[in-house]
Amino acid sequence: GVGVRLRTDVVVIGAGQAGLSTAYHLRRLGLAPNRGYVVLDRAPAPGGAWQFRWPSLTLGTVNRIHDLPGMRFTDVVGDADAEVQAAVAVPRYFAAYERAFQLPVYRPVTVRVVCERDGRLIVETDRFELSARGIVNATGTWEAPYVPEYPGAERFRGRQLHTRDYRTAAEFTGQHVVIVGGGISAVQLLDEVSQVTTTTWVTRRPPEFREGPFDEAAGRAAVAIVEDRVRHGLPPTSVVSVTGLPVTPRIEAMRARGVLHRLPMFSDIVEDGVRWPDGTVVRADVILWCTGFRSALDHLAPLQLRGPDGGIVMTGRLATQVARDPRVHLVGYGPSASTIGANRAGAAAATELTAFLGLR
Ligand code: FAD
Repeated sequence: GVGVRLRTDVVVIGAGQAGLSTAYHLRRLGLAPNRGYVVLDRAPAPGGAWQFRWPSLTLGTVNRIHDLPGMRFTDVVGDADAEVQAAVAVPRYFAAYERAFQLPVYRPVTVRVVCERDGRLIVETDRFELSARGIVNATGTWEAPYVPEYPGAERFRGRQLHTRDYRTAAEFTGQHVVIVGGGISAVQLLDEVSQVTTTTWVTRRPPEFREGPFDEAAGRAAVAIVEDRVRHGLPPTSVVSVTGLPVTPRIEAMRARGVLHRLPMFSDIVEDGVRWPDGTVVRADVILWCTGFRSALDHLAPLQLRGPDGGIVMTGRLATQVARDPRVHLVGYGPSASTIGANRAGAAAATELTAFLGLR
């Protein structure tokens, strides 16, 4: 309900990898900053969700951060050593990138809701309103941590936290930590926490370790599975279910230390631990939910993008375009939920949206 309403053609919501890639391509396609496109981001500084990652996530422990289009990571941060925090290096790169291409990024601006009025898309934020012809939503998943519901969770007297809240293993010294989840973050935090205290690892499915490198072909195959799902309006599966867990030297070391022993999910939570269907209880001081993230799309609810079964049917070259409303693209989700995927999705979204709107 803020008075000022500005007009533009395309609003990009979110300035992470996906939003910046989109902005780069909108600029390259000839859209003018501000009049043609703007980028809104709720975070206080450049870096997308990377600025919030835990300190021990370093350039040595991330999978691989793909360059944004048109400027190399190493041009900004040099051959930074493996110890440098991703939460420091990536924001520095994004900041330089925004400056170099003079991208019209406004922050901190939180998009509250997007709705339709007189054939235009109205983007309501905490600071102003924008009237646009198209939207590229690149809000990522960091704002929507997912914790599954287990009976008794409210009874637990210890501490429960999500990956998103993790800072350092040291704070768990002397406590027994139950780590839930089968993805890469779960294994990385299990590695760290198990070096300072005792742990129990539980996952829904037995973890599938993948020997050998994750090459282009494997990447394409994984993306194809997820892309096929979203083209049918199905929720994207978890990343790890299509990529497997790479066996790194750290995982070899964890095996040797005996901490990779995995139990199936418990059935409920008790005051001082977790319990399996056969009555076995493991006492716990901490439950660390490394159970992933969902897409942060609530602000798009008025546009009614979802079909009757709750899914959003996606179309377009890289499945970034919403079938029900081609003025809306979603980038950085499902098949494009990686830095390389976000890059490609940004290019496809910018190209298809500007063509659809007749902007070039
Ligand atoms: P984000 O970086 O999350 O950016 C979204 C932006 O949107 C944020 O700045 C946020 O503030 C803003 N925003 C959200 N809601 C609103 C709103 N309502 N209004 C305005 N702005 C809003 N991928 C790799 O390729 N390699 C890796 O090594 C890797 N490591 C990872 C490690 C972790 C712990 C996690 C969680 C993910 C990792 N990924 C990795 C995945 C990768 O981070 C993402 O796929 C990619 O960076 C996401 O970029 P994005 O632009 O979609 O989202």
